[in-house]
Amino acid sequence: MSIFGNKEKFSEAERQTVPILLLTARNLGYTPIVKQYLEIDIIMESDLLSLWDYLLTIACSTAFISQRENPVIRLMKLLRSIAWRIIPTPVRRLLNRGSARFCPVCESWVARFRPFGVQSRPNAKCPVCSSLERDRLIWLFFRQKTDLFDGRPKRLLHVAPEPQLSRRLKRVPGVDYVSIDLAWGKAMMRANVTDLLFPQDSFDVVYCSHVLEHIPNDRKAIAELYRVLKPDGWAILQVPIKSKTTLEDSSVTDPAERQRVFGQWDHVRIYGEDYVDRLKGAGFKVTVELFAKELSEEAAKEIAISRSERIYLCRK
Ligand SMILES: [Zn+2]
Repeated sequence: MSIFGNKEKFSEAERQTVPILLLTARNLGYTPIVKQYLEIDIIMESDLLSLWDYLLTIACSTAFISQRENPVIRLMKLLRSIAWRIIPTPVRRLLNRGSARFCPVCESWVARFRPFGVQSRPNAKCPVCSSLERDRLIWLFFRQKTDLFDGRPKRLLHVAPEPQLSRRLKRVPGVDYVSIDLAWGKAMMRANVTDLLFPQDSFDVVYCSHVLEHIPNDRKAIAELYRVLKPDGWAILQVPIKSKTTLEDSSVTDPAERQRVFGQWDHVRIYGEDYVDRLKGAGFKVTVELFAKELSEEAAKEIAISRSERIYLCRK
């Protein structure tokens, strides 16, 4: 999708800011004036939430946004969050009803999943609960391969919680749910995963997905997760694996440079297949679960997950 017809008139940096300007203008009702000022033809999707996803994807993938404190982006995220919350789940389910895809997290049949990602992936995001491929896979794994749902008391630590999983995990019978995040307002407690305040052997279950690639001292974080896990507990520590061996360079600190080297402005490394050695280095016994392969091709397609995805199940 092209958001403006004659984009060659803009520099690379301007191309990143124009969509944000347009969205702000749209929210304030100034679109015609801005169009006239920029002398552009705007091509927009009619679906506001899709547009929002699209803009956030562009925005978050740029060095411009890597400054993070940008008030326009904060406003966009806030408005999107509000818009999302005021549409009740049954209505979202109804608006997106279909039979092509199934989301096991919110148990909805929908016509399609939405594209999502810095490098946009088709069929990624559930339009009802916002689950991504990895959330749907893990939820199925929780249900089919773990003792999470046996009703016995368990204390669960969810690091940097995905809201769609958080909502479900909180309601699992017997689960004493605790979530942490580095940022205020994103979890029940604000905490740094490299320096947890919990005593040793505090949790029966730890779930931490796509967090470690953001943390400079990931070995310290893994050691902390090991420390707080109970001896008979289990942890699932997921990262994106995109290389044979892990690529990291602590001298790369500029967000634009991180985007170029690591593929995302806030990533500090690209994990390779040797990731498992880092987990073992902290003391974990690791089983690489190929659960996704157990699903039929039809089921994997229906849920829109990759059958080659690995799950890192760690025990003390
Ligand atoms: Zn869903």
